[in-house]
Amino acid sequence: MRLGIDLDGVICNWTKRAIQMLNARFELDLDECGESPHWDWIEENITKKQWAWLWTAGVERGMFATLELLPGAFSALQRLTRDHRVFLITNRPQASRRDTIYWVSKFLPFNFQGIVTTKEKWEIECDVYLDDKPENVQALRAHRFTSYQVLFRRQYNEYFDWNPIVNNWIGFERYVRVLERRLV
Ligand SMILES: [Mg+2]
Repeated sequence: MRLGIDLDGVICNWTKRAIQMLNARFELDLDECGESPHWDWIEENITKKQWAWLWTAGVERGMFATLELLPGAFSALQRLTRDHRVFLITNRPQASRRDTIYWVSKFLPFNFQGIVTTKEKWEIECDVYLDDKPENVQALRAHRFTSYQVLFRRQYNEYFDWNPIVNNWIGFERYVRVLERRLV
């Protein structure tokens, strides 16, 4: 199968890295361990100027080159890339591409079919998608209604009612394995 998998908030912990960089640069005291309680939490707790800095100088200073992997992502992707064609599909800015490719080759040295930077994730045709953003799974369902659009449950998307949902990588791998058996 073709699997289309999001990066930030699914494979790696963008929130933590963004908060660390903001705290260091602007001497803030945002909680570096906690997860965003809702989607726009960081943006609402800093100034417009700081938010703009994060997406310009922050990107240039390697925000996307030094992210932590989320639990379970490494082993699950190691196995899934053996058995399936896996695309990493992200809405990161184009300026992040070099760091994204560097980070994936360093931390996930597996056989990916591609690393795609796009806002229209449905342009990449896949059988199963995994994403943590409600608007993304909705758009994928609208454009690719025969695929499976799986929401990765995080604290900041708890309000959103969806089916199917997985709570972690064990859940996602199990979901893929069930589909495999159904398709044989
Ligand atoms: Mg995401």
